[in-house]
Amino acid sequence: MAFETAISRPDTPHDDDIVLLFAGDAVVLESAATTLPRRGAVTGLIPTETVHVGRFDGAAVDAARIDHATALPAGLEIAPLRALHGRIDDEAWALAGRAFQLAEWDRTHRYCGLCGAPTVLRDDERSRACSACDFRAYPRHSPAVIVLITRGENEVLLGRSARFPAGMYSTLAGFVDPGESAEDAVRREIREEAGIEITEPKWFGSQSWAFPHSLMLGFTAEWAAGEICSDDDELEDLQWFTREALPLLPPPASIARRLLDSWL
Ligand SMILES: [Zn+2]
Repeated sequence: MAFETAISRPDTPHDDDIVLLFAGDAVVLESAATTLPRRGAVTGLIPTETVHVGRFDGAAVDAARIDHATALPAGLEIAPLRALHGRIDDEAWALAGRAFQLAEWDRTHRYCGLCGAPTVLRDDERSRACSACDFRAYPRHSPAVIVLITRGENEVLLGRSARFPAGMYSTLAGFVDPGESAEDAVRREIREEAGIEITEPKWFGSQSWAFPHSLMLGFTAEWAAGEICSDDDELEDLQWFTREALPLLPPPASIARRLLDSWL
């Protein structure tokens, strides 16, 4: 495997290290590059404190947030992380997503949630520790379920959120509440978003999704009873689609698309 996680960085920074710098949901790249940027190329932009992500094909990987307004020197560009899928290879894209989540966690846990004192990044575990009371903050993960629901051989239930690009529909998804199993969350989400009864959810697979820090847990289920009746404000439309008349589907990098492709 190309990636190995590591908490502490090698002693000497090297020009061949990979350094991922994020502003908003975009990442700094060498112009037109199809690989991740090296320390030598972005050196003037690197903040004092970075998070060590691990090693990728032997190279040390660091990540940090930079200011939106930072002027980029010639030869560098900034590109949305989502749009990078397909431009860099899948493993590098997954690494960028991992680095994005760690940099975002690091940026949002600079002060203790208990006493307000500054926190310090530890080098023996993935945490930031309070300098006054030692309270530890760990990277945030939000489990979410996503489910492909079919009816008979030829119909699939897809919904559209107002946030989606024009014309796009996707499988239904929602966050797992504290205290719920993933299967409970599937049943609750479908009841809330579609008002129908489904068969027992079957495990499909999972995917880390960096926008902003979700772990997507994929399931499939079949329609059992009921007509669509949504009182969910998040969905602007929800329909049964046939294979022959599908709308615009989510991009290939998403588990939603993998669920749909496996059905198709
Ligand atoms: Zn504290």
